Amino acid sequence: MFEDIPVEVGIVHEGERIRQQQMHVEFGGPKVPNKFELVQMKAPKDVKDGKVTVVGKGLADFEARSRAPIAIIFHVAGKKMEKDLEPVLERRIHDFFNYVEGVMHLNQRYDIWIRVNKEDVKKGLTLEHLGKITIQLMKQEFKFIEKMEAFIYTDEKDIESRIKSAREIYEARDARARTLTDDEVDEFYGCILCQSFAPIHICVITPERMALCGAISWFDARASARIDPEGPNFVIEKGEVLDAGKGQYSGVDEAVDEKSGGVTKEIYLHSMFGLPHTSCGCFEAIVFYIPEIDGVGLVNREYMETCVNGLKFSQMAEQTGGGEQTEGFLGTAVEYFRSKKFLQGDGGWTKVAWMPKVIFDSIVDFIPEEFKDKIATEDVKNLKGLKSFLEEKGHPLAQAWAKPVEEEIPAEAPAPAASEIVPVTASPATLMQVPAGAPAMTLPAMTVPGGGGFKFTFKNARIYADKVIIQKAKE
Ligand code: SF4
Repeated sequence: MFEDIPVEVGIVHEGERIRQQQMHVEFGGPKVPNKFELVQMKAPKDVKDGKVTVVGKGLADFEARSRAPIAIIFHVAGKKMEKDLEPVLERRIHDFFNYVEGVMHLNQRYDIWIRVNKEDVKKGLTLEHLGKITIQLMKQEFKFIEKMEAFIYTDEKDIESRIKSAREIYEARDARARTLTDDEVDEFYGCILCQSFAPIHICVITPERMALCGAISWFDARASARIDPEGPNFVIEKGEVLDAGKGQYSGVDEAVDEKSGGVTKEIYLHSMFGLPHTSCGCFEAIVFYIPEIDGVGLVNREYMETCVNGLKFSQMAEQTGGGEQTEGFLGTAVEYFRSKKFLQGDGGWTKVAWMPKVIFDSIVDFIPEEFKDKIATEDVKNLKGLKSFLEEKGHPLAQAWAKPVEEEIPAEAPAPAASEIVPVTASPATLMQVPAGAPAMTLPAMTVPGGGGFKFTFKNARIYADKVIIQKAKE
């Protein structure tokens, strides 16, 4: 099938990582603002089947370790092709590029990040080859595609002139999905496409919870499940509502249990605590719990600076992804922030304290009016500043701290003798104060320096304790 391609093509190459030292060129990624990929349905007469047009520099024209913008556009035609299938095909570009030896493709839509290694370019791989491989694999997998054509642009001016209309297309898809609610449908959909690198992860896609990659809405997943019932998207019967606030359904739990091989038994669709939805690695954004204020921050993948909690997106992504349930860190689509059910099981917008301005601006119309001036952005750089900001703005979180907490009278128990207690001091900067009533959470890797030579390392620890007493062991 790929005799004329100078490198190997196959699923065996999926998951290959290309490091900076190995790469010849990097398209898109966090340091290149303009990049996107798009699939568009066209009339058959407007598609030249199998044709690939490259405008701009080809792979061999770039110097080693270059960075460049890119736009990848596929036109598709077929009698059974539907508009709703465009995003589903678009998401598969990720898979099929990754089948190519020495090529790494991450993310989707306007977030793509592609690396091609030096060996591939020496062997003669071209962008035309990548277009042809993708067309052949798509047609092999989706028999309804009768004609498919590719356009690849690598010149900034060609990409700039097209990216605005691509963004409008993504927005129109998302806006359509907002016309439905979870309560109006009997079925949700699942996706296991990312199990190739997060083997126990399942996305549950509902009208009010877009897939966390931000690429597949409820409509898209429905179209995909209908046309290819054996494929990665499948129907999930909602079943009985077990918890309307947090979004727990018996049918969802059954599907998650089955598709995770029994690892994940139950999930909440709209809460990040207790039984949160899992995250693979493709999430567009992270919601992170800030225990010091009993609130949350939001950060998008493109935000490269340190967040208000002292961590960067990449550091939190390690904690969030992998397909496990991780309380306190949730991978989501940016579109989920526009959902009326956004974290409704945890208090929704009453809990949101911080986000980069770029997200704020993109979702401002969906933030309830009373919170718009109470959410900090990157002007607030640390937790001390955040607390002052929230107090000054009268954020409900600050009002909650101000409430007097009734002192608990401990049950009578003999206190340890003073001589038996080993004093432990921790630097105030590293002490985590969790407000009363805050839900249990999973802490990121954290080391608390002890004053007397003690060192405590908490890694992915869950700590539930009313009291911790450290006593000197009797000799
Ligand atoms: S993030 Fe979820 S919806 Fe998107 S491709 Fe992966 S499994 Fe499917």
